Amino acid sequence: MKRNIKTIAIIGGGPSGCSIATLLKRKGYTVAVFHLEKRPEIIVGESLVPAIIPYLRKLGVEDEVKSYSTYKPGASVWVNKDEEATSPFSFGGGGLPPYAYNVPRIKFDKTIFDLAVKEGVTFFSHAAKLERVGNSDELKLSDDTLVAINDFFKGQPDLIVDASGRSRTISRLLDIPTKEGERKDIAVFAHLSGAEKIEPYNIHLHRLEKGWNWRIPLPDRISVGVVIDPKHLKEYGDTKEEQYDNFLKSDETLRKFTANAKRETGVAQYNNYQLISQKMYGKNWLLTGDAGGFLDPIFSSGLFLAIKGSFAAADAISMGTDVAFKKYQKDQLYELAIWQKLVDTWYSGSLFTLFKVGQDRMDTAIGRYIGPHMQRHLTRIFSGEAVYKSYSRRFLNFVFGPMLSLMKLGRLHNRKTSDLAIK
Ligand SMILES: Cc1cc2nc3c(=O)[nH]c(=O)nc-3n(C[C@H](O)[C@H](O)[C@H](O)COP(=O)(O)OP(=O)(O)OC[C@H]3O[C@@H](n4cnc5c(N)ncnc54)[C@H](O)[C@@H]3O)c2cc1C
Repeated sequence: MKRNIKTIAIIGGGPSGCSIATLLKRKGYTVAVFHLEKRPEIIVGESLVPAIIPYLRKLGVEDEVKSYSTYKPGASVWVNKDEEATSPFSFGGGGLPPYAYNVPRIKFDKTIFDLAVKEGVTFFSHAAKLERVGNSDELKLSDDTLVAINDFFKGQPDLIVDASGRSRTISRLLDIPTKEGERKDIAVFAHLSGAEKIEPYNIHLHRLEKGWNWRIPLPDRISVGVVIDPKHLKEYGDTKEEQYDNFLKSDETLRKFTANAKRETGVAQYNNYQLISQKMYGKNWLLTGDAGGFLDPIFSSGLFLAIKGSFAAADAISMGTDVAFKKYQKDQLYELAIWQKLVDTWYSGSLFTLFKVGQDRMDTAIGRYIGPHMQRHLTRIFSGEAVYKSYSRRFLNFVFGPMLSLMKLGRLHNRKTSDLAIK
C-alpha cells in the first residue's frame, strides 16, 4: 500500500537531518526541520572516509568542504608505539576516490545546513516535542510544538523523521528495543596546537597500553581523542580536563606526539556510542543517521552512514510503500551489523595480529603472493568500501577467521590474537 506523504517534519538539523531535508525538498515535499541552534565548541566526527565523497558530490558540496578541510590520502595504524602500518586509500582499488577529507565539524555541519536553506527547507529553532497517539505506534507533534511553528503543516505532518542523533527522540519515546555493543568505553577529545605535525594528512590511530587514540590533522590544529574504559580514565583526575591532560602526559605514545602541544579548546566527552535500534520505521515515522543506530567510531564510518542513510531514507519515502520502508530497515540493520563485525576485529586484536603476521611473513613466497591482495582489502576497511564489495567481505571474513587459525596450525605464526586486544 502506498502511503500518502506530502508533509514531513524532521527532528534535528545535523548532517542527516539537513541532508534528508535537502533530498526531500528536491523531490517536492513540504519539509520543515526542528533545529537547535546552540552548538558545542567542538564536535566529534572530523575524519571522513572516501565512500562519503560520491554523496557529497550528489549533494553538491564537495568543493565547499574541500575549501576548509585537509586532504586525507589514507589511514595510519600504529600497532605499538613504534610500529606503523600505513594504507594510502589508492591501495584500495575499486571505484572510490583515493582520498577523503578531515573536516572541522562545525564548518561541515554548517555547509550541509546552508545547503538545505538554499534549497528552500524551512527551519524552526525549536526542540520538537512528540507524543504517542494512545497506545499505538503513531506519533504526533505536541500542541505547543504546533503553536511554536505557527501551524506550518496545517495540522499534523504526514511523516516525522527522527534525525536527532544520539538523543534518539523516537526510540526513547516508543521504547524501541536496541542492540548494544559490548564495550562501554568513553571518548574524550580536544583540539591541540603545537602537536607533532602529521604529513601527509592521514588519520593516525594508535593502539595504546590502555584504550586507543586518534590524531586527526585539521588545517590549523590537531584533533586528539582517547577512547578508553572509564575506570582507567578515572585514575587520571576528577574532571574530564584533568583526565585528558594527565592521560596525554602519562601515556608514552601520546607524550611523544603532544609534549609541546597546547590545548586550545575545552574537553568534550562522549559515552555509550554503540547502540542500534531494532526498528527503523513505524506508522508515521522513520529513523535516520545516529538516531537509528551508531557504532564505535574507530573506522570513521559515522558521517558516511548518516548521509548515505539519508539518501536511502529519502528514496524509501518517495516510494512510499511498506515494502520500501521494510527494505530500508533491513538494509540499515544489515549494514550496521557488518560494520560492527569489522569494529570487533579492532578490539579483539585480530586486525593487529593480521598486520603483524603480514609483516613477519613478507619474506616468504606466500607472504609476497598474498601481501598486496591483503593490503588492498584491509585498505577497503578504512575507505568504507569493504562492507559493500561482497568479495572483500568474504575475503576479510576468511582472513580474520579460518586463515589466521590455519596459519597457526601450520606453524606459519604463533601469535595469540588476544595479546593485541584493546584493554
Ligand atoms: C567519539 C566519537 C568519534 C566520532 N568520530 C567520527 C569520525 O571521525 N568520522 C565520522 O564520520 N563520524 C564520527 N563519529 C560519528 C558522527 O559524529 C555521527 O555519526 C554523526 O554526527 C551523525 O550525524 P547525525 O546528523 O545523525 O546526528 P548529529 O550530528 O548528532 O545531529 C543531531 C542533531 O539533532 C539535534 N537534536 C537532538 N534532539 C533534538 C530535538 N528534540 N529537536 C531538535 N533538534 C534536536 C542535535 O542538537 C543535533 O544538532 C564519531 C562519534 C563519536 C561518539
